Amino acid sequence: MNRRRLLQVSAGIAAAFPVARLVSADSAALPSELPATSLSGNPVALSGADIKDLASSMRGQVLIPGQEGYDQARRVWNAMIMKRPAVIARCASPSDVIEAVTFAREHQLLTAVRAGGHSSSGKSTCDGGIVIDVAPMQGVRVDPKARTARIEGGALLGHLDREVQQFGLVTTSGTVSHTGAAGLTLGGGLGRVCRRFGLACDNLRSVDVVTADGRLVTASADENADLFWAVRGGGGNFGVVTSFEYQLHPMDPTVLAGRIDWPIAQARDVLSFYAEFSAKAPDELNLDIGVFRGIVSMRPCWSGNPAAGERVLRPLRAFGRPVRDEIVGTPYVTLQKSGDSLNGWGRRFYGKSGFVDVFTLELIERVIEICSTAPDSFGLVAQHAGGRVGRIPVAATAFANRSAGYWLMLSQGWSDPSADEQTIAPIRSAWKRIEPLTSGFYVNAMSESEDARVAANFGPNYPRLQKVKRNYDPHNQFRLNANIAPA
Ligand SMILES: Cc1cc2nc3c(=O)[nH]c(=O)nc-3n(C[C@H](O)[C@H](O)[C@H](O)COP(=O)(O)OP(=O)(O)OC[C@H]3O[C@@H](n4cnc5c(N)ncnc54)[C@H](O)[C@@H]3O)c2cc1C
Repeated sequence: MNRRRLLQVSAGIAAAFPVARLVSADSAALPSELPATSLSGNPVALSGADIKDLASSMRGQVLIPGQEGYDQARRVWNAMIMKRPAVIARCASPSDVIEAVTFAREHQLLTAVRAGGHSSSGKSTCDGGIVIDVAPMQGVRVDPKARTARIEGGALLGHLDREVQQFGLVTTSGTVSHTGAAGLTLGGGLGRVCRRFGLACDNLRSVDVVTADGRLVTASADENADLFWAVRGGGGNFGVVTSFEYQLHPMDPTVLAGRIDWPIAQARDVLSFYAEFSAKAPDELNLDIGVFRGIVSMRPCWSGNPAAGERVLRPLRAFGRPVRDEIVGTPYVTLQKSGDSLNGWGRRFYGKSGFVDVFTLELIERVIEICSTAPDSFGLVAQHAGGRVGRIPVAATAFANRSAGYWLMLSQGWSDPSADEQTIAPIRSAWKRIEPLTSGFYVNAMSESEDARVAANFGPNYPRLQKVKRNYDPHNQFRLNANIAPA
């Protein structure tokens, strides 16, 4: 569809939604010129008429600094990140996304794409550019017979989990339910059932993507297969995904899960046990671990047959002298929300993370050294990977870190801005001792120092990713991500 025709269609749609249109298209509230930032980082000016044009072509809202709702809309999950985009396009539909992408391209604007807003390093927002925000698009449709689910680009993991579990079905999602499915899936997607069913991206059947030239294309194994390969792990490099279709799997809605804790004094033995037990675990068992100043805590989730789960977990529960054992039958959806408030919106966050293949003795010693002297609430957490994730060939999708047994993370959340430096410095220095033992990092949790290591991290998949990038985003419009340079 050409742009003029599209504008006519969109204007028709906008007329049917006068409230949404009023907020943005009110010319009295628009300045004649709005300072903005170009793709290459230079200052540019947008005219009020341009903004008005964009607003009247969209069903959703267009917000600029000073407008009611702008400050709320620019917030992201990590309160450390407080950027000021020139324009926030709150998209209500794929045609809104087409409008926003076209606007960004025609004005050469720095472009961020945002769904759940959980990028902890702030990749989904920017200063002076446009934020294409798909958060208003949260529909989920399940086809229980075909065992598939289709979600819109802004749906959260909790929406997906809840709708599919109604039918005793599941697909891999992450551990905090207010995370966006889009960002998580495009970068990989580790979660409590990934060892059994693969990463979130491994369960994709198709996606709809608005590419940099403003086309809406479908990518699947049969259609635009190169793009389909690239979005499964290559992040937001190739366009704005407006819908994801997942394969679902039957799963008992009750899993055997909870926590079991040991005092830090037993850390060496517990971590050595964990290294062996988790490496040999069946795919139905996901076993995360956290090491904090006072305790070592394991968080199992057994998603298979309950009686078999009791048997598999017996050696773990009998190990050492745990001070707490709260492993019980738990609804999967409840478990998936259990970390929500601890990881709530509005707190400050800093973290460093990377993948390790195995928990070596050297790693165990460094973890103990760091965590036994760490400040309160500072901790190291390892999310279990491996299983089916590692049996899928590296070349099958863009996600390249298939040998990882664990996603290791040192992080802390806090509230007081005056504590920023004193909180961040110990994490940085502790990570310097862990990082040499890691093999690659997770593109979904990139920190500032990793931009230069993206190519190496994608390993043998990088040249192919560069070709796909050249075909779909030759001018690198979508650069605020684990950025792939067009070939
Ligand atoms: C509390 C918390 C818990 C987490 N737990 C897990 C976990 O269990 N497993 C795991 O694998 N990861 C986990 N993560 C990391 C998570 O995968 C990333 O932060 C991910 O980017 C979040 O997606 P989002 O849509 O919320 O992010 P956003 O900040 O909205 O987006 C992040 C990036 O994704 C891309 N993007 C987002 N939406 C689109 C779209 N529609 N089209 C194209 N590109 C898009 C953009 O490049 C954007 O910069 C967690 C993060 C947090 C903060």
